[in-house]
Amino acid sequence: MYSYYNENTILYLNGEYLKATEAKTDLYGQSLHYGYAVFEGIRAYKTEKGEIRIFKAREHFDRLRRSCELIHIPYKFDNEALISAAYKVLELNNLEEAYIRPLVFCPPNMTLKAASEAHILICAWEWGAYLGEQLLRVMTSSFQRPNPNAFRIESKSAGLYVNSIMASQEAKQNGYDEALLLDMRGYVAEGPGANLFYEKHGKLYTPPPGHILPGITRATVIELCHELGIPLEEKLFTLEELRQAESVFYCGTAAEVIGWESLDGQSFSKPWAESLGKVLQQAYKARVLEREFKRKVA
Ligand code: PMP
Repeated sequence: MYSYYNENTILYLNGEYLKATEAKTDLYGQSLHYGYAVFEGIRAYKTEKGEIRIFKAREHFDRLRRSCELIHIPYKFDNEALISAAYKVLELNNLEEAYIRPLVFCPPNMTLKAASEAHILICAWEWGAYLGEQLLRVMTSSFQRPNPNAFRIESKSAGLYVNSIMASQEAKQNGYDEALLLDMRGYVAEGPGANLFYEKHGKLYTPPPGHILPGITRATVIELCHELGIPLEEKLFTLEELRQAESVFYCGTAAEVIGWESLDGQSFSKPWAESLGKVLQQAYKARVLEREFKRKVA
């Protein structure tokens, strides 16, 4: 069990650094009642040189801004100042490798009008590998990802995560580690909190943007594929195609790169240790730690 804060924890709220136990919010807010809020999930690492670095800080805070814009939450914050605040939160809490959670939320308002102002919170805590280190036993969820015509699905909005909670909980109740969600058309979409890649005949495939949250880790994996000469294609594919994959992995800031053992009880043909996913798992780790990575040629 992780505890997210204690009596010494300091957080950042609207320009101030406060004790988590003393910071207050309003119980009449639109965010609490309607899920009308936006958040980010970011990781800080201690690099090979011993420096604390927030990985892709700019990309995450830019997405925070975009997420707000997409659902009309005013974003009057300066992202450079927020990045400095995130570093300060790490420092004040003596955190090195940590998970950072910015949250933009709205003040009291019980109407369904768009917010006219917003608050920002940045907190951080130590968080190990979100989906563990073991290969995942994944279950195809009975829940689909939301219809992009019903929601701004590319916005990392709080309300959207009820869908993720339902899917993840269903998988766990059925004895699996994690869920896989299809989109409303029946194509493979993503996990409750991660994007997916599969390997077949020396090439990787991943769903294109449109019905998924286009993750920052996904973008990093694509970048690494280009650098390492791993062929990659973004395309729509069905569950039947995924079942024929040689290996599969999830990736996300919290989960990093994590391989699958099986889908609905059926394992994949390639041992994880020999998969392209494993190469990318190591390359990703090297990237976040600012360590050089050379791909071993088999
Ligand atoms: N899809 C969903 C639904 C997510 O919640 C996340 C986690 N933010 C991801 C994908 C992966 O995104 P990222 O790599 O930016 O963390």
